Amino acid sequence: MSLFEMAKIPMETASKLINLDPNAEAVISQPERTLEVSIPVKMDDGTVKVFTGYRSQNSTVLGPVKGGIRFHQNVSMDEVKTLGFWMTTKSAIAGLPYGGGKGGIVVDPSKLSKGELERLTRGYVDRIAPLVGEKKDIPAPDVNTNAQIMAWMMDEFSKINCEYSPGFITGKAISMGGSLGRTSATGRGVITATLEILKRKGIKPEDATLAIQGFGNVGSWTAKCAAEKGLKIIALSDISGGIFDPNGFDPYKVEEYAKKNGGVIKGYPGAKAISNEEVLETEATVLIPAALELQITAKNADKIKAKMIVEAANGPTDADADKILEKRGIPVVPDVLANGGGVTVSYFEWVQNLYRYFWSEEEVIERQEKMMVKAFGNVYDAAEKYHTTMRVGAYIVALSALAEPLKLRGII
Ligand code: GLU
Repeated sequence: MSLFEMAKIPMETASKLINLDPNAEAVISQPERTLEVSIPVKMDDGTVKVFTGYRSQNSTVLGPVKGGIRFHQNVSMDEVKTLGFWMTTKSAIAGLPYGGGKGGIVVDPSKLSKGELERLTRGYVDRIAPLVGEKKDIPAPDVNTNAQIMAWMMDEFSKINCEYSPGFITGKAISMGGSLGRTSATGRGVITATLEILKRKGIKPEDATLAIQGFGNVGSWTAKCAAEKGLKIIALSDISGGIFDPNGFDPYKVEEYAKKNGGVIKGYPGAKAISNEEVLETEATVLIPAALELQITAKNADKIKAKMIVEAANGPTDADADKILEKRGIPVVPDVLANGGGVTVSYFEWVQNLYRYFWSEEEVIERQEKMMVKAFGNVYDAAEKYHTTMRVGAYIVALSALAEPLKLRGII
């Protein structure tokens, strides 16, 4: 089964549970448009390398396409289609006036020089430019892309269109029209979702322990926001492996150590070295996968010792694991809800760009938390009402938001 086919399972369940017009599901099931591009890049050694890139525009039912661009060696059309589908769902759950989409380039960016990376980034924008823009499709950062890459993209797009176009892309630096609170937004939202599920399960934050897999933008900010709220982090991991300390980590210190240690947390003083698998199987109150897709599968779902899972990454749990976790009574706060903080603050950034009027960080955080708590309540209540998982609950909320505009617009 492809990733895209797997991703659609909870939507199919949700659609049946609420007796939705099957045409709605059929429309949402396929991207409206997909684009594959080839990008020739002059490498530093004088050779030319041709890279492959994609953009999947999944839905514009609720608004323009919205979703990040990832740079990774495993990017494929199947993956961007799936991630775009999740963006459609995520935006609808968060209550944003956006559709969904995703893009990516097949590349390991750590193997490129800064100049090569910039030329590749600009080349990708040249290829997708006719189909994107502040009212059509608004990209953002994702795995291995950051504010610098957004800056090159925004500059390239502004040049092509001969106008300053900050609203074309989100996740920009503050000096370029970015929003305060955007960099930390996904992690912050993950912690809001964590606090909400702990509340529903009657666990006090001070009694909770966390295991976080991944220490990139999302993982590290999840850890820092957790510490801010007094949550104890006992296990962390990154590409170099895991670290464990029952007394808890100060994520700021771990980050500082990683910066000095070639970007990895391996060897953090005072911590026990553990494997990535052991991080996933840590006896913690909450497990937070914050890396890539398909980390919790039929192979390890039985070994998970956490009382609950909050998905910071997109698609970390596969369909088989979902069934096992449901049977074991381990609640999963799904990605399309838990990591919606990023796109929510992307929305705030876009609004600020359109108005050319900027908000304080406090305002951003307050509005984000309010929207996240509301979205969480909607999903939790839908799951309770239909006696189903929060993942299916999330699709009930999303499909319910999409169904009426689909009908009123005459699409179904
Ligand atoms: N890439 C992020 C996600 O998967 C953010 C998308 C956005 O801000 O548009 O949610």
